[in-house]
Amino acid sequence: MELYNKSAAELSAMLKNKECSAVEITESVMSRAEAVDGDVNAYITLCKESALEKAKAVDAAIAEGKELGALAGIPIGIKDNISTKGIKTTCASKMLENYEPPFNATVIDRVNANDMVITGKLNMDEFAMGSSTENSYFKKTLNPHGLDRVPGGSSGGSAAAVAARECIVALGSDTGGSIRQPASYCGVIGLKPTYSSVSRYGLVAFASSLDQIGPLGTSVKDVAMLQSAICGYDKMDATSAYRDYPDFAALLSTDVTGLKIGIPEEYYGEGIDAAVKTSVMNAVRELEKKGAVVKNISLPSTSYAINAYYIISSAEASSNLARFDGVKYGYRAEDYDSLVDMYEKTRSEGFGDEVKRRIMLGTFVLSSGYYDAYYKTAKLLQRKIKQEFADAFSEVDVIITPTAPSKAFRIGENTDNPLKMYAADVCTVPINIAGLPAMSIPCGDDNGMPLGMQIIGKDFSEQTLFNTAYAYENIMGGNLCKMPEIK
Ligand code: GLN
Repeated sequence: MELYNKSAAELSAMLKNKECSAVEITESVMSRAEAVDGDVNAYITLCKESALEKAKAVDAAIAEGKELGALAGIPIGIKDNISTKGIKTTCASKMLENYEPPFNATVIDRVNANDMVITGKLNMDEFAMGSSTENSYFKKTLNPHGLDRVPGGSSGGSAAAVAARECIVALGSDTGGSIRQPASYCGVIGLKPTYSSVSRYGLVAFASSLDQIGPLGTSVKDVAMLQSAICGYDKMDATSAYRDYPDFAALLSTDVTGLKIGIPEEYYGEGIDAAVKTSVMNAVRELEKKGAVVKNISLPSTSYAINAYYIISSAEASSNLARFDGVKYGYRAEDYDSLVDMYEKTRSEGFGDEVKRRIMLGTFVLSSGYYDAYYKTAKLLQRKIKQEFADAFSEVDVIITPTAPSKAFRIGENTDNPLKMYAADVCTVPINIAGLPAMSIPCGDDNGMPLGMQIIGKDFSEQTLFNTAYAYENIMGGNLCKMPEIK
């Protein structure tokens, strides 16, 4: 088996046993990316030289007998809204086409402290707004399992690159489902961590009260290892939780005896494909056979979550994106007559349609006269949705739902219909609204296209999520993420 087709945990063991070098791993992943990225289009920037240099340094450190991090030498791809010092961070926008941050995001410092090898920056929907990666200024990423379909979004580049083995693991960001939904469409594993557990310092802000960086990979253990590497208190992020986290991978267990699984009826109703419901429930039955206890529950306000999410996230986006004005950094229009004209032209030319739609929507719902009717109502709904989850978690340990209502849709299928596009997030946005952790793992397919199931937990219960996923991975023979044929 090629090195690029192995998990981080396997590669890490091989490195320790001197069965391969970090340079060999990086070379394998880089030639894989060069071979398939012409089809998949996952990367905006491929960092071949710096990756090989880093790999060489890791090999040298190993030769000297230095103590290295658990993920040392493992190639990792980074979503292009996470700041990387000296490496372009475009947010897939014309606005930041040539922007090189003068600093690293905290997660990048942690990735570096773990001696991981950054392979490059991955495509996404512009400023993380979208569900298909079709809103990128640069190119459309295609789904490695079916090149006529979207990889999901907004972390479509991260999910597609992991699925196609163009990197071993990746970082994405999730404001309303952007790690989990593409993970589901591309047949990989993705975690949206508890809000405040991973530092947002250096993540280009979309909706700050919902944004969260998280890991993607092809095995539960890899995702657990990467989460351990990136989570933890950071004084640079005022919302960072001050607490300690366990070594998730070391504590993995397949024992689900007595685990109480809640099945909320609202996530299995109209609008969810039959193939999705069947696959998810089959997976739940497998866990039940191993001793988990299944209980039907209700989360009645679920149907309001999409509305609340698009109001709250757009409101925050309209404020966060005010900084892109052509003055401080990023794109500036070439011809203008006055300061106001410069602002107008810069923002009209620099942002794509979806970003403009969100800024206008957000400005509208925050404007006097409409604030109470929209923004305030959305915040009240948020409280209700949070409370319903809290009540549910007094009875169950995890909640299992589909990650998305269907398999990946076709390129172009939803581009003219934003409301249909927003509906792709119906199962994921309530979790961000409530600040909870949730992960998506593959649980079957619909005519060859992967389907995902979402495991939701209470605040800071990542270990329970990992263990539930690990148990299912074990039941399925240890490998949930099939290698795509790329056609
Ligand atoms: N698809 C959702 C949106 O467009 C979620 C995006 C995200 O999680 N970044 O807002």
